[in-house]
Amino acid sequence: MSLPADLHMHTPLCRHATGEPVDYARHAVEIGLTEIGFSDHSPMPRDDFDNWRMSDGQLDEYVAKVRRAQKEFPQLQIRLALEVDYLPGHEDWIRQLAARQPWDYFIGSVHYVSDAWDIDNPAKLSEWKKRDAFEVWQIYFDRLTLAAESKLFEIIGHADLPKKFGIRPAQDCTPLYEKFLNAAAKVGCAIELNTAGLRKPCQEIYPSRNFLELAFHKHIPITFGSDAHAPEEVGMNFSDAVALARSVGYTETLRFKSRQPEAVWL
Ligand SMILES: [Zn+2]
Ligand SMILES: [Zn+2]
Repeated sequence: MSLPADLHMHTPLCRHATGEPVDYARHAVEIGLTEIGFSDHSPMPRDDFDNWRMSDGQLDEYVAKVRRAQKEFPQLQIRLALEVDYLPGHEDWIRQLAARQPWDYFIGSVHYVSDAWDIDNPAKLSEWKKRDAFEVWQIYFDRLTLAAESKLFEIIGHADLPKKFGIRPAQDCTPLYEKFLNAAAKVGCAIELNTAGLRKPCQEIYPSRNFLELAFHKHIPITFGSDAHAPEEVGMNFSDAVALARSVGYTETLRFKSRQPEAVWL
């Protein structure tokens, strides 16, 4: 069985990943992948916004690192992308970023439910104790819905990220998922099966089976991503992710070049 493209991985420029793009590419070749895409955390309009991304001035260096990996591993298809933080009001900034390099795709992710709280940040775990979990999930999915509606992204990243630490609301979140998925279906953007969740306290792929079933019934395309922050994480648990996708009914996945999708048999 050939594994799908791993479209989500990082570089040391984001300050919390190890290994150079050439090391990620080498590992991808070793485990038999034929395509990967780098999608490091995008710069923000202000470099001091947080401490877990490249600065605006490092964008060219990022592209050069990816180009070096492409040169050293011609047998591997290597795409150039970004994982872009979606915050309401950042649309013009994201459009500017899009115009600066010949990107293959953008993954749109919501990490921030306010300018001050990135809900997946372990250093801010105590914030969850001060808040009602359902309220956080509501804000998160409202933002994720806006991200889809913005049409700025080919892929929406780790769609049910708020489950990362295993803190889940008692309420049924299906209506929140539905609202986002209807927006995604309308604009035609994909969601990713992100295996990093298996390496976090939630111990589950993003998104959950229930979520993925809803997505399948709305004909929302999928991609696969390890969200690797180290070379050995490239392609990690991909056979589990493929099994999950197939068991829900998916027979296709997407790859991207120059922001154009192409369907590939799964
Ligand atoms: Zn990261
Ligand atoms: Zn992310």
